[in-house]
Amino acid sequence: MSGSKYEYVKRYELPDPLMLGTYMVFRLDGHSFHRFSDVHKFTKPNDPRALELMDCAAQALMKEYGDIVLAFGESDEYSFLLRKSTSLHNRRQAKIVSTLTSLFTSNYVFHWSKFFPDVALEYPPSFDGRIVLYPSAKEIRDYFAWRQTDTHINNLYNTTFWALVQQGGQTTTEAHATLRGTVSKDKNEILFSRFGINYSTIPPRYRKGSVIVREKTEPDTDVHTNEQQSTQESGLTQTRSGDQKELKNPPTKLEILHCDIIKDDFWNEYPKILEE
Ligand code: ATP
Ligand code: ATP
Ligand code: MG
Ligand code: MG
Ligand code: MG
Ligand code: MG
Ligand code: MG
Repeated sequence: MSGSKYEYVKRYELPDPLMLGTYMVFRLDGHSFHRFSDVHKFTKPNDPRALELMDCAAQALMKEYGDIVLAFGESDEYSFLLRKSTSLHNRRQAKIVSTLTSLFTSNYVFHWSKFFPDVALEYPPSFDGRIVLYPSAKEIRDYFAWRQTDTHINNLYNTTFWALVQQGGQTTTEAHATLRGTVSKDKNEILFSRFGINYSTIPPRYRKGSVIVREKTEPDTDVHTNEQQSTQESGLTQTRSGDQKELKNPPTKLEILHCDIIKDDFWNEYPKILEE
């Protein structure tokens, strides 16, 4: 690298390493998706096409980055847990946030027509991204419990709100007024007595959000044949020169669940998530 008199400006760049020995949670959220969902006529309260597109983009991220061990999505947001000992991009914050956010966004656009074959993409959507560091497994458990509780609260509200509008003939202003000051029990009661809807029978995707985990595939005796390389989902990565190189992580298969992640059962079933 030959120096120039301008090169000193590089020294104004500040390092932004993320502390070692902490869990990274990366969360992104659609920018102004209230508007985006209106313009693209998402069905209310839950457009399954939009949720499946979010899941698809999230899976693409997990295929590319083997260090993501868990993802949780609802509405226009997704959270990703990186394994504690990850050295992804040397733990540089801006590098991780910007590359993950842009890869998710490009996948959302890239796969749009698969999920919305009859809906033209009217303008390019964008997402914001952030990383929060947590010191221990307790906060990680509580973080995901917080997001899933949010899913529940929002979905119960939105389901009741749209039932009042779509089936009850209320205006949106009236529906907001009807729901002001109500607690969960009241909303369940409105749904059941006025509209015959038993909340617990609503699809788990809407009630619980989407949980993506890695299932270890059967260890192959010879994983280095070309044919197997092309079928493994995340055991390999492309280097800049296009060569394939091995990741530390063994090949895995991604699975989407719509289960409870607040109680112990999930974490007991997937103990690896919180290991190094
Ligand atoms: P990264 O992808 O991690 O950012 P990079 O090589 O792309 O790595 P940039 O920050 O994008 O790094 O830097 C752009 C260019 O700046 C490089 O191609 C290099 O020529 C020059 N450069 C990088 N680091 C230095 C440095 N310490 N001193 C002088 N020039 C540098
Ligand atoms: P911000 O830019 O601050 O995030 P926002 O308009 O995106 O603003 P959010 O709080 O993120 O606000 O809420 C996202 C909104 O997008 C929801 O309130 C809902 O109206 C809409 N939305 C997202 N996903 C869906 C979906 N699958 N079906 C229907 N509506 C959706
Ligand atoms: Mg927001
Ligand atoms: Mg948003
Ligand atoms: Mg949101
Ligand atoms: Mg660069
Ligand atoms: Mg560069």
